[in-house]
Amino acid sequence: MDAVNLLGFDLQGLAAYCEQLGEKRFRATQLFRWIHQKGASDFAQMSDLAKSLRDKLAGRAHITALPVISEHVSADGTIKWLFDVGQGNAVEAVYIPEDDRATLCISSQAGCAVGCRFCSTGHQGFSRNLETWEIVAQLWHAEHTLRQRLGKDERIISNVVMMGMGEPLQNYAALVPALRMMLDDHGYGLSRRRVTVSTSGVVPMIDRLREDVPVALAVSLHAPSDPLRDQLVPLNRKYPIAELLASCNAYLDKAPRDFITFEYCMLHEVNDSPEQARELIALLKGKVPCKLNLIPFNPFPASGLKRSSNERVKAFADLLIQAGIVTTVRKTRGDDIDAACGQLAGEVQDRTRVHLRMVRAPVVVQRDATSTGTAAPAPATTSSPVTPTGPRP
Ligand code: SAH
Ligand code: SF4
Repeated sequence: MDAVNLLGFDLQGLAAYCEQLGEKRFRATQLFRWIHQKGASDFAQMSDLAKSLRDKLAGRAHITALPVISEHVSADGTIKWLFDVGQGNAVEAVYIPEDDRATLCISSQAGCAVGCRFCSTGHQGFSRNLETWEIVAQLWHAEHTLRQRLGKDERIISNVVMMGMGEPLQNYAALVPALRMMLDDHGYGLSRRRVTVSTSGVVPMIDRLREDVPVALAVSLHAPSDPLRDQLVPLNRKYPIAELLASCNAYLDKAPRDFITFEYCMLHEVNDSPEQARELIALLKGKVPCKLNLIPFNPFPASGLKRSSNERVKAFADLLIQAGIVTTVRKTRGDDIDAACGQLAGEVQDRTRVHLRMVRAPVVVQRDATSTGTAAPAPATTSSPVTPTGPRP
């Protein structure tokens, strides 16, 4: 039997494993603390662990990090790691230090099957889900490498956001134990408000997360209406905005914060007009307690899309703020090392042909009596346009 990587067990799983070895469950707590709080990878180091257990573990189990392909440090202190997850796939994690916190942004999948128009991970297609240990290994590596490097004995990473590559709620089974390890007092001891799952809107899994591990929730909205969101976030055809917002409201019953964060990627002349700001206000105000986080689009060549100007972002934000919706504009970090949102694009051996189906046709901004939004200028392309609104399955 293959030796098992203990980075993949939450405390309950580790206790069950120790029992299988004929050990008391409380031994698991000691072991778990060695692994996650002290960053130990060698059983011989675990001095207070019974020698008999250490001997049993050696040969049967191991604690192995992901191989690091590269590390880039930005002028602003942001660090991006590229991890090898095998078979030509690589995923990224980004460490973002700020005055009052240090956030680690981690990946949940090699690639992503959702295929959002404005996301370079989406353009790469999908290879596979990460396993629990591969999700946790990103945090384990970052936390313990930085502690060593900075010569610190206390916790460095104060917040985790599942905003790297992949759609975390399409890898639910692996995600949940990973979240539990982040929250566990014997593990990383992060409070539920400091762990954020960001989703493009997998409604049934938002409902399950509410029951299983209700951490902070960020929802990638990006459009005020279904016709536009259908094009930008194809998952919207399955779970349209009304269903998504209903699920967000239900989530708030158990959420650690009394609001949902909506992310909104600002795309020039696609979703950034004053009319669209007003539509967004009508959609959200008084309907879902929320904060808006506007993310200026980080361009990449294949997208055929442009970043909204600072003036348009500001005008959009001002309208939301005047309407009483708390709105922030996300600062771009790690720009010089391609570590900004949506630029994470490790290596993905696409098995879905998503990247072939992705077209650079213009996003069609539908006009109606209340909207004067203009369509994005057509990029030079020979591919066929995106169907504005197909029938919902
Ligand atoms: N799949 C999840 C989490 C990963 S993406 C999700 O979609 O929420 C994390 C955030 O980065 C999302 O809000 C996403 O919309 C945003 N994003 C993706 N590509 C981007 C880009 N090119 N510029 C700015 N933000 C982007
Ligand atoms: Fe996937 Fe999120 Fe990128 Fe959309 S924005 S393709 S859901 S990683």
